Amino acid sequence: MKLFKIRGGVHPEARKELTSDKPIEPAGLPSLLQIPVQQHIGSPAEPIVKAGDIVKKGQLLAKAQGTISTPVHAPTSGEVIEVGDHPALHPSGLPIRTIVLRPDGRDAWAPLAPPLDLDTASSEAIEARIAEAGIVGMGGATFPSAVKLNLRARFSLNTLVINGAECEPYLTCDDRLMRERTAEVIDGVRIMCQALQVSTAIIAIENNKPEALEAMHEAVADDPALRVVGMPTRYPLGSEKHLVHALTGKETPAGALTANIGVVVHNVGTTYAIHEAVRLGRPLISRVVTVSGGGIMNPRNLQVAIGTPIRFLIDQCGGYREEPGRLLAGGPMMGQPLPSLDVPVVKGTNGVLALTHTETDQRPEMPCIRCGTCVSVCPCGLMPFEMASRIRHEDLEGAADHGLRDCLSCGACAYACPSHIPLVQYFNYAKGKLRLQQQEEQKQGQQKRLIEARAQRLQRQAEERKAKQQARRKAIAENQQHDKEASV
Ligand code: SF4
Ligand code: SF4
Repeated sequence: MKLFKIRGGVHPEARKELTSDKPIEPAGLPSLLQIPVQQHIGSPAEPIVKAGDIVKKGQLLAKAQGTISTPVHAPTSGEVIEVGDHPALHPSGLPIRTIVLRPDGRDAWAPLAPPLDLDTASSEAIEARIAEAGIVGMGGATFPSAVKLNLRARFSLNTLVINGAECEPYLTCDDRLMRERTAEVIDGVRIMCQALQVSTAIIAIENNKPEALEAMHEAVADDPALRVVGMPTRYPLGSEKHLVHALTGKETPAGALTANIGVVVHNVGTTYAIHEAVRLGRPLISRVVTVSGGGIMNPRNLQVAIGTPIRFLIDQCGGYREEPGRLLAGGPMMGQPLPSLDVPVVKGTNGVLALTHTETDQRPEMPCIRCGTCVSVCPCGLMPFEMASRIRHEDLEGAADHGLRDCLSCGACAYACPSHIPLVQYFNYAKGKLRLQQQEEQKQGQQKRLIEARAQRLQRQAEERKAKQQARRKAIAENQQHDKEASV
């Protein structure tokens, strides 16, 4: 299959060898699970349990609120001991409503939904099952998968792309899924094709995963509707829009979705979760997490119950080999610094990294020498040094005019910068501040509308009162006139 050239990109050291040969193993259960009700993009789920409730594995703990939301289920059986606010892996950094569950060790399932009969199941039925199972984009995006499958109602779709690129260094959880659970992943792909009503799926895998490529090639050999494509190893090829561009030659316009050009992208982990929900009736209550980095004694790929504290995973990997310089949830390029080891694994956590000081480039920031390297590696064709310069001067709108809102925060520019300027930190700071400003403006706009509506209501009431007074006076005057005439 012909691949199209995309712009920019870098080649960071992959370090996949730390875990690529480590099969997926169960992580075991900690003494307490902390299950945040917001593990997805959209409205938080609403808890339907309280302290003291006894729950079974897979039981609904919090139900979805509104169109863009997902429910949350019990990862094992046990007792709910608290519903309160706890620190979590959330971009806001604020504590999140969390259901704390004490496992009872029995791991006893609640009654599950029956398997769907795919010979008769409609797209809507598949979508409803995926929504009920609480499945989100497991590559880290955490957008509710059922909402994404429903794009067929608004767009003319022709292709499903399965993102098996896993271009972030260190992470191998998708690689292991494709090698170990090949049939289940392929089944999930076929289910998604049926739900989206598309006849073609392309499974894109970077060439640095030869075993996964071979396993997937073999699995689809007899199915002309499914194609497995080896992709060049280049970061950030796994970004949705760039993957679609490389495969189809079509660019997704700024601010638009890949669905605008007929393509929907889902991650490999999501595909596996969809297989489990549709074939076995199981909600999303665990996921594969790569625990790696030079700081980890025994890096592993673990099947982890949602809500497991990161500290437990590091202990399961033998603790630290040496004091880490950086702790991250996710990969080294786009991962989130861990606020604490007590935060839990959520549906979007694909990796936990403990990087040593030598693995992290923490050299001091130097002045920009205007070399243009950041421009040449940016996959979005932006001018990172210009945006950073404006942000340094608090000219956020100027940075936005230079494309800040199109920036993926992929980190390629910061990685390549010879002056070690933490460009992504500038961009994330500015995006956060612009978001707050926008929220503030929306709030002020809403307050202004409320004040205006109140003023209009008061004016209307005053006018009505005045009209009534005038009517009353007129009636009195008419009565008096009438009485006068009668007395004459
Ligand atoms: S790569 Fe770094 S030094 Fe070079 S222009 Fe960009 S910000 Fe400046
Ligand atoms: S972080 Fe943004 S500006 Fe930098 S390379 Fe990625 S998309 Fe371009």
